[in-house]
Amino acid sequence: MLLVTDDRMLEHDSGLTHPECPRRLAALLEALRAQPRDDVVWGEPAAVTEADLLAVHTPEHVARIEALRGSSAKLDWDTGVSPGSVDAAHLAAGCAIEAVRSVFGGETRRAFALVRPPGHHAESGRAMGFCLYNNIAIAARYATRNLGVERVLIVDWDVHHGNGTQEIFDADADVLFVSSHQSPLYPGTGAIDERGKGAGLGYTVNLPVPAGTDDETMIALYRDVVPPVAARFAPDLVLVSAGFDAHRDDPLGGLEVTTKGFGALCGIVRDVADRFADGRLVLVLEGGYDVEALVDSTFACLDVMAE
Ligand SMILES: [Zn+2]
Repeated sequence: MLLVTDDRMLEHDSGLTHPECPRRLAALLEALRAQPRDDVVWGEPAAVTEADLLAVHTPEHVARIEALRGSSAKLDWDTGVSPGSVDAAHLAAGCAIEAVRSVFGGETRRAFALVRPPGHHAESGRAMGFCLYNNIAIAARYATRNLGVERVLIVDWDVHHGNGTQEIFDADADVLFVSSHQSPLYPGTGAIDERGKGAGLGYTVNLPVPAGTDDETMIALYRDVVPPVAARFAPDLVLVSAGFDAHRDDPLGGLEVTTKGFGALCGIVRDVADRFADGRLVLVLEGGYDVEALVDSTFACLDVMAE
């Protein structure tokens, strides 16, 4: 399996005491380098073009973000940039693109993009929730525009609803978005009756769960919903917004998913990719704010992806 990352994403700093801190990725890379795995190859991010960004975001949003290169600013109450942030955002999207490219290149069938800033709250026209560009949406659109992919399934198990990804693909029937998330919780979207619009009606599946939901319920929910939905959709590619803030130790979320539970969710999604998408599976890191839980849960997913 391929791991795609870049140390320069550590240069993105949202501000002192911000939960989305460089330490998250630094700890993950240190742990991976301290325990080298012979089932892993390392990849470098693809260069992101303006066309890649504009396939998902409005020209105004891209111009607004690009103008911040080299400076520090606040975009909303919890989304800030430092001088290295815009480059980091390009690298994050580039890692997601490279991961997707690799699973169609014959080198590998499974890849994990270890990135920050995260992406799934970024909408077509605005940054929000620690996210500047929507990495997974950019990768999904890259696949449909450049790789001849007809249908992409995006599963989002971050504790927060992936409002940006939902908004970007709301009216599209070629990207099926399935999100599990704690409700009520930031950003407040993701009700069960939000099912897409127009041609995209039925191609958004929201699975809100209450605080305290544990492994048993989450695994049952994924087993009941994801394989049948995937069977009807027949994706060519399965992407995962892999946030680990649904972990019981996470300071921002209130769910009770364990490290082992994330491994089980990853196993369900991996089996779906194997059955319906010729094994093509790409995880893209989103949230996860307890560093130990983030590292352990990532390793649990790598173990499952290595099987
Ligand atoms: Zn999150």
